[in-house]
Amino acid sequence: MKVDVLTIFPEFFREVFDFGIIRRAKLAEIVEINIFDIREFTTDKHRMTDDRPFGGGDGMVFKAEPIFNAVEHLLGTCERENYPPKTKVVLLTPQGRVFKQEVAKEFADEIENLILICGRYEGVDERVNEALVTDEISIGDYVLSGGEPAAIVVVDAIVRLLPNALGSETSAVNDSFSSGLLDYPHYTRPAEFRGMKVPEVLLNGNHAEIEKWRQQKALEKTLKFRKDLLNIGES
Ligand code: SAM
Repeated sequence: MKVDVLTIFPEFFREVFDFGIIRRAKLAEIVEINIFDIREFTTDKHRMTDDRPFGGGDGMVFKAEPIFNAVEHLLGTCERENYPPKTKVVLLTPQGRVFKQEVAKEFADEIENLILICGRYEGVDERVNEALVTDEISIGDYVLSGGEPAAIVVVDAIVRLLPNALGSETSAVNDSFSSGLLDYPHYTRPAEFRGMKVPEVLLNGNHAEIEKWRQQKALEKTLKFRKDLLNIGES
């Protein structure tokens, strides 16, 4: 998968994708991540990316032109119907579809080229949503100062789901949300730490019992913290 991030703060991403699973995925050429400075796509001498809002009001608005220019540079077109197959142009916005594990999976399975647009200011000129983007994605019901942290979240969640991105010792299958439940509790050595003991069942080597215990614990955790995942009403 190729990921292109459009931002006015390229420095924000200087090292963030150089650790752990994402770094390994980059080295193994499972993913290529490129960061583009939207200012490079301005046409005025002050390289302005914002301007005052029509209709008045507080704050500034992210101009459409440099974003259109950047997408045109990357795809050879800024007409949605002419985008190459398996391409998505995503605007990070608190007003978008909420990014969940199922969206990460959908993107990991279906996309070859993902362009992420990081907004700033009071938001992005609406013509970007109207004509340029294929998807609007929110990472949750809160407002960030810019789309950069959201881009990092989206890239991380997608990359770990790409084929072979996780080492053989780890797997996304039991991760929270993948099976509709939260993950089960994990323990490692020592078997006793500050008087706290690892559950006996995990020490006896009976894999059927361990599996049963893990399922039970995953269900208990989900009931305790995220009943909404189980589609059962409050009673
Ligand atoms: N005035 C906008 C609103 O209330 O919908 C918020 C603008 S916010 C200060 C600036 C930028 O941060 C947005 O254009 C978007 O790119 C990004 N952003 C903020 N919250 C976000 C969220 N929950 N998910 C994704 N991107 C977000």
